[in-house]
Amino acid sequence: MSLITNRTSENATVKIDYSQCNHCGLCVNVCKDLTLIIKDEKVIINSEPLFGCIGCGQCVAICPNDAISLNGRTLTMEEFIHHQKSRELIIKAYTRFYFHAEV
Ligand code: SF4
Ligand code: SF4
Repeated sequence: MSLITNRTSENATVKIDYSQCNHCGLCVNVCKDLTLIIKDEKVIINSEPLFGCIGCGQCVAICPNDAISLNGRTLTMEEFIHHQKSRELIIKAYTRFYFHAEV
């Protein structure tokens, strides 16, 4: 089953560039659809997600290595700038939460 939202005119598809990915898992933590999962300590695209990628862009926003590309949703320039500004804050918050580190 897949779900088309007002954010996408079609189902989105996500792709991971494994030459950039360090399998940190940040994208998995923000994906509410379970499109992205960890298996054998590697991030993979789940063949059985909940609804199918809704193109929310959270995984793209949080990835520190620009390893994720998304088709089915085009970010506006405003969204892109917002994501760039948000990324550092989100990563700091997750780092504090999961690793109890001061960053
Ligand atoms: S956030 Fe980026 S680097 Fe980290 S696991 Fe996901 S794709 Fe890989
Ligand atoms: S765009 Fe959203 S639903 Fe799709 S893989 Fe990324 S976080 Fe998950």
